[in-house]
Amino acid sequence: MTTLSLTPDLPPDVLPSPDTPPAPDGTCRAGVGWQYRPDDVPMEPTEDEPFHLRYRSRCSGCGHTGPARSRENRAAEDACDHAYPGWRDMPVMEYRPYEGKKARARWEAAARAVYPEGWFERGGPVREYRTGCGMRHVPKYAPGGGYCMAVARPKRMPAPDPAAAPARGVQESLFG
Ligand SMILES: [Zn+2]
Repeated sequence: MTTLSLTPDLPPDVLPSPDTPPAPDGTCRAGVGWQYRPDDVPMEPTEDEPFHLRYRSRCSGCGHTGPARSRENRAAEDACDHAYPGWRDMPVMEYRPYEGKKARARWEAAARAVYPEGWFERGGPVREYRTGCGMRHVPKYAPGGGYCMAVARPKRMPAPDPAAAPARGVQESLFG
């Protein structure tokens, strides 16, 4: 007979986020789970805010679980450190277009052109510039369904490469 308790003595196990992608092949993938921390359960040294929700990286491929974090972003970074070493050195893209299939396809192609071959197929994260308060690392937004990791846009961006800029000049011959 099954009994249900609404006030369990211990916090429930870390629940995997519904965003955690399955890894039926057993390879390491980045995922984040969360857990409720009741008042009488002390914070762990890796938590820096007295929040009641704590996050941990979780790898559905090998079962690895990371340290408790107060903020989801820290757990997402732990998850990528575990599954995709070197992600912090990957190129930073412009932000992923919110809408427009063609714009999205162009952005994905640009990311695939500068990231290592097979990176996104393994569920690897993409880094992108963000501004303001939209700094959440968003699951599923990388070209292969991995994390889209927010990078604060520096105040001064390096000058764009003129060779890479699309031509915008008027084609005079069309009107000649
Ligand atoms: Zn793993």
